[in-house]
Amino acid sequence: MSSNILVSVAWPYANSLIHVGNITGSYLPADIFARFHRLRGNKVLMVSGSDSHGTPVTVRADADGTSPLEVYTQFHKGFLELFQKLGLTYDLFTSTHTENHFKVSQSIFLALEKNGYLYTDRQQQWYSPSQKRFLPDRYIEGTCYICGYTSARGDQCDQCGNLLDATELIDPRSKIDGSTPELKETEHYYLDYGKLQLDIVEFLRQREDYWRPNVVRQSLGQILADELHERAITRDLDWGIPVPIEGWKDKRLYVWFEAVIGYLSASIEWSKINDQPEAWHDWWYNAAARSYYFIGKDNIPFHAVFWPGQLIGAGDWFSKIFEEREGSSLVLPFDVPANEFMNLESQKISGSRNWAVWGLDFLSRYDPDALRYYLTANMPESRDTDWDWGDFLNRNNNELVATWGNLANRVLSFADKHWDGKVPTPGDLRPADREIIDTVESGFQTVADHIDAVQLRSGLIETMRLAAEVNKYLNHSAPWFEIKSDKSAAGTTIFTALKAIDSLNVLFSPFLPFSSERLHAYLGYDSPLFGEQYFETIVDNLGEHEVLRYRPGKASGHWEPSQLSSGQALRGPKPLFRKLDDSIVESERSRLGVPEGFQE
Ligand SMILES: [Zn+2]
Repeated sequence: MSSNILVSVAWPYANSLIHVGNITGSYLPADIFARFHRLRGNKVLMVSGSDSHGTPVTVRADADGTSPLEVYTQFHKGFLELFQKLGLTYDLFTSTHTENHFKVSQSIFLALEKNGYLYTDRQQQWYSPSQKRFLPDRYIEGTCYICGYTSARGDQCDQCGNLLDATELIDPRSKIDGSTPELKETEHYYLDYGKLQLDIVEFLRQREDYWRPNVVRQSLGQILADELHERAITRDLDWGIPVPIEGWKDKRLYVWFEAVIGYLSASIEWSKINDQPEAWHDWWYNAAARSYYFIGKDNIPFHAVFWPGQLIGAGDWFSKIFEEREGSSLVLPFDVPANEFMNLESQKISGSRNWAVWGLDFLSRYDPDALRYYLTANMPESRDTDWDWGDFLNRNNNELVATWGNLANRVLSFADKHWDGKVPTPGDLRPADREIIDTVESGFQTVADHIDAVQLRSGLIETMRLAAEVNKYLNHSAPWFEIKSDKSAAGTTIFTALKAIDSLNVLFSPFLPFSSERLHAYLGYDSPLFGEQYFETIVDNLGEHEVLRYRPGKASGHWEPSQLSSGQALRGPKPLFRKLDDSIVESERSRLGVPEGFQE
């Protein structure tokens, strides 16, 4: 029986480039999970997009003398290119700057209002008389009232690290023009999380047995230690989604509030552009559907507490407002498998110091499967991990190339040479042949259990262990000796090894889709394991936006043991992976921490 699986992936913020820590934190695990479930025959919907609003984008636009739209568009383009090159099979990777997302977010806002979870309140905020606008905290600089540091940011002091109340800064200045702002009263909408607390606690209690301990600690644990408070959901900004209330059109929805709504709006956009406008109901109004949120640990409260609160609070009013139909409640997250952080050469990754391995830059020198392999083998699922260039080299050469790539290559080459490029016809299988086939085929259960529980690292390690078993079998059977005295026995060995390799290839395929697709073709299959990614331009009343999509096409992969038959014509094998030279370790390390533009 097939299940409906929603794969919700963190929305990258459209004001910075993506590094390997981001990739292993959320984007790659989501893709492995989605590919696996597609192979199993489940109905998968994988969505995300660029988080395009908020002050970091406007601050950057002001600094660069450009517009927020240009900043967001430029970073969005880079995300599309990277995700396509990495093989991330988003059914839709869109953005929050779309007419559809505006409407869905405003409908959630109105549903919360209908259900009585919103209220307005007045507060003091810095206002720039010279620019005639309110200044968000990030636009203010002044002297820290805790430590006396003279260049403290409005929201946080970089010297003492304390979060600050911007209105209490001493000697405040506008970061835009240096002028002195004044305090002025403004009014905002608040979401009353106190009213939702019982429901959110109940939601978390139902999941604490199977959620990762860190996620439970940062959600249920936090609420029990310190109850939930109201949160402002509007801001005085001109970039973003207008508040859908008469007299409030000059204010915008707060980005933390609307960005998470993207999981829902992207599902709806995907349905629309597929001309099946209600298809999203199968994931969002279907209590049996399972939704997974792949995020980094810095995002846990937003996905495990605030977003479920928004969904609970909207209740069935969302469908009445958005599509004028009696609906049911929206499906709450089934799991939020947040990852910890990846460090780099034992230091925290830092974009501003260029202490990072950037996704697109990496792919200009190495293959995507080498990256996917290392990031999965080293995935920070239960604790922080470290990207170490020496470790990357060793794992690439000793595991990916030596244990898996060479295994496939030497068996295919041997069949090519001695059986005229065809799968040999076996004699009766001997106990050792049957045993290795059983061993590898047991992986369809054990590896599946790991991936289904979002233990991707264990799933990959188990698959590599099975590949090592096939190497042992081959070394023990030694077909290169067998063939000198008994070609039929050697044929049985090669048949068995090819069958095992074919099964292993399916087990590896969610992790290593590029090399798996090639090996699948070398094994003589005509249709691919997976479908294809493609770009599309969507036009709406806000303009146009480019999206990355996935279609199954001729995909024929199934999560099941090899059905390889004797006589099948193989295709000339080529090595699956590149062995890397030891010298890359020093050359890559020398790039770290060097400001951009100063590299050779
Ligand atoms: Zn300070």
